[in-house]
Amino acid sequence: MPLHDPLIQIVDTAVADAYLRGGAHLVCHPGCSQCCIGVFPIAHEDAARLREGLTLLEQTDPERSARIHERVKDSLTRLDPWFPGDLATGILNEDHEAAILFEEFANDEPCPVLDLTTGTCDLYQHRPILCRTFGPPMRSEGDNGEVNLATCELCFIHATTEEIAACELDPTIPDQQKSSNTTFNTTHHLHGETLIAYALRDPSQPHP
Ligand code: SF4
Ligand code: SF4
Repeated sequence: MPLHDPLIQIVDTAVADAYLRGGAHLVCHPGCSQCCIGVFPIAHEDAARLREGLTLLEQTDPERSARIHERVKDSLTRLDPWFPGDLATGILNEDHEAAILFEEFANDEPCPVLDLTTGTCDLYQHRPILCRTFGPPMRSEGDNGEVNLATCELCFIHATTEEIAACELDPTIPDQQKSSNTTFNTTHHLHGETLIAYALRDPSQPHP
């Protein structure tokens, strides 16, 4: 799906453009994996891409896919007791209380797709949108409604405010992502968001 996925093509083009403008201010490289530590919500559309990548990997590299399955299983034993959502579906609760609980939830948990030996992503071509866009400056709205440009804390260390602004990722990306996710959820009768470990758990195993 990702190679023919219109949203992925738009996002990857926009990210490549931001990296061109960002130059040496962006220090991403294989083995840098700080952004793969700590859980974050993903859309069901992201979850479907990851599952497709894992299914392909099972055929092309069974040993690598088995390692992902093992890490997912281990991760779930740590996540399940505190998961602020529905364990049967893997969908995060959407109320305010769940959002507060999520702030403190599993911030040190490595992504189960991360190969901890190499520090690289085992489903790189199928990784979620957030993994693709993290790094370059992106607009975010603070609690007070103020708009900021957020970057990875390892990047743009010595950049001026003007240099950061000049490297901003296409600001239409979040809306395009939202629209694509909404269409996907409507088509598949889904709501809310999930986590990578729940997206990739073994469907043949019973869930609590
Ligand atoms: S976004 Fe930050 S943590 Fe992630 S690979 Fe790039 S530099 Fe490393
Ligand atoms: S899916 Fe890949 S890029 Fe995204 S957090 Fe996991 S290991 Fe990192």
